[in-house]
Amino acid sequence: MANITLNNIAHSYTGPSDNPDDYALKKLNLTWRDGGAYALLGPSGCGKTTLLNIISGLLIPTKGEVLFNDDDVTKLPTEHRNIAQIFQFPVIYDTMTVFQNLAFPLKNRGRSMEDIEPRVIELAKMLGLDADLHTKAQHLTADAKQKISLGRGLIRQSVNAILFDEPLTVIDPQLKWELRSQLKYLHKQFGFTMIYVTHDQTEALTFADEVIVMYEGEIVQVGTPEALFERPEHTFVGYFIGSPGMNIAPCELKGDKIVLEGFELPLSAMYKEQPLDAKIEIGIRPEHLDLSPDTSEGLPVTITKIDDIGRYKIVRVTLKSKEFNVVMDEFSGVVDDTASLSFETDHTHIYANDHLITGEPK
Ligand code: ADP
Ligand code: MG
Repeated sequence: MANITLNNIAHSYTGPSDNPDDYALKKLNLTWRDGGAYALLGPSGCGKTTLLNIISGLLIPTKGEVLFNDDDVTKLPTEHRNIAQIFQFPVIYDTMTVFQNLAFPLKNRGRSMEDIEPRVIELAKMLGLDADLHTKAQHLTADAKQKISLGRGLIRQSVNAILFDEPLTVIDPQLKWELRSQLKYLHKQFGFTMIYVTHDQTEALTFADEVIVMYEGEIVQVGTPEALFERPEHTFVGYFIGSPGMNIAPCELKGDKIVLEGFELPLSAMYKEQPLDAKIEIGIRPEHLDLSPDTSEGLPVTITKIDDIGRYKIVRVTLKSKEFNVVMDEFSGVVDDTASLSFETDHTHIYANDHLITGEPK
């Protein structure tokens, strides 16, 4: 097992180019620590599969190097990297039984049946495939086939990493939750480095200790699920993570306050002046906004919609032309369609050209 380091990696499918737009992956640097449980999260087309294929060796990056510990493996073929990769759709042998499919990666490496059998049985149990061990894969459902694929990835105990590329896409929603918990359990049990690619924030946040968020070929934040929620370093992270996502609104920055839709709002820090052409925005999560019927404080808003989600309510309001979502446990006392919106100052973030900026605490 090894730490995997990506050094100034960039990839263009059309070969080397001076135009940044040609790059599916812009320059990135990252180390995946041995034994970590990571999620690679981002919308379709942002470069997740490209990055995974560079780690496994299916792709040689246009620029930069891949290190396993100190060894440069950038040009090393897949079979010499000792990486297991699980794809979106099952890759199995239809005419083999479940047992034979699971045993194959070990048999292929010359392991004895004595070694193989207990491992196959253990893993089949964990994946809930034990009742079908001697059934041919072709007779199984799509779910079961993907479980076999997962099993084939997990069967070898000495891999450098296991890469999952949106493996639960074909899985029934009910089973998804179950399999995700099993993967988490297997990670604890075996301690492999796992990189789990998904465009689904729930999958990413429940699986991983650390989430890498990608957007348009770049890494925009690496952090714990909590950090992504509490302190989004990029407006995309704020917007993409959370349900609903962070409220983002253009504003003017004036030292320790902002002007938002003509209203002044105090901040908890003193910010440096930003370049005149910088795009300045305020970001605040719906959970950190509050509404009250008392219009003597806060900003005057109009309530346009209330969604009752059960445990909480999502209240949509407009401040002049700008819409905000407010998440509230209780929403009572407001009888009118007007209310007063207040901001938790400590959770009010400022972004310049989409990147979080920080000020000096007051
Ligand atoms: P993701 O897995 O996040 O959906 P991909 O890594 O598959 O994203 O793709 C990133 C970008 O690279 C996309 O714009 C995609 O169209 C492009 N791309 C992916 N594979 C190829 C390829 N084989 N040839 C050319 N362009 C590709
Ligand atoms: Mg992909």
